[in-house]
Amino acid sequence: MRAKFAKFVPLPKWLHRPPAKPFRKMFLEHTGSRSPRKGWIEVICGSMFSGKTEELIRRLRRAEFAKQRVEIFKPGTDTRYHDTDVVSHDKNAIRSTPVPSSSNLMLLANDIEVVGVDEAQFFDDGLPEVCTQLAGQGIRVIVAGLDTDFQGRPFGPMPQLMAMAEFVTKVHAICMRCGDLAQHSHRTNASKELVLLGETDSYEPLCRSCFNKARAAQAALLNQARH
Ligand SMILES: [Zn+2]
Repeated sequence: MRAKFAKFVPLPKWLHRPPAKPFRKMFLEHTGSRSPRKGWIEVICGSMFSGKTEELIRRLRRAEFAKQRVEIFKPGTDTRYHDTDVVSHDKNAIRSTPVPSSSNLMLLANDIEVVGVDEAQFFDDGLPEVCTQLAGQGIRVIVAGLDTDFQGRPFGPMPQLMAMAEFVTKVHAICMRCGDLAQHSHRTNASKELVLLGETDSYEPLCRSCFNKARAAQAALLNQARH
């Protein structure tokens, strides 16, 4: 009797569809087709201690493994550790050239396949246009930088670059107060100077809610000091 029920019953036609396509893999990097050469812009952004530079170095290293000619630039004002290295906080360094202005990139990026730009927030407003021109010449341009400053405002040429890029990757730090993902770089000292570079004692990554609380507390302290 059981065999009767176990007999093959053909499925209705509408169930015979091909299996759904698997989900597209999460974007990490688009290595593109190398012939004909096509350029594009990638942006890696986030708060301090979010691993932007590490991600930039990772992509550039892989391009080097692929035997591509790579050049890395950073603004001349960033001389924290070493003049010719892009240095991230975990000491994972890669050679780079400090340049005073974005216009220098056009001259120096001759015969290069992949251009990396670190600390892009400190570059002048000409950087988005320069990156567009480089990409137009068939160069893969990877830009890393802080998307917002210590007050939470869009930083330098970063918003334009994010709008003009093909690919934007936002990386996060961990909030020092609650352990959530952090997107803000809170300045723990009261100095008003904007260019104050990566020292662990003067900045902490915070989530939106902790950042708002910290800013309110700082404002209250400043108010008290004034009266
Ligand atoms: Zn938090």
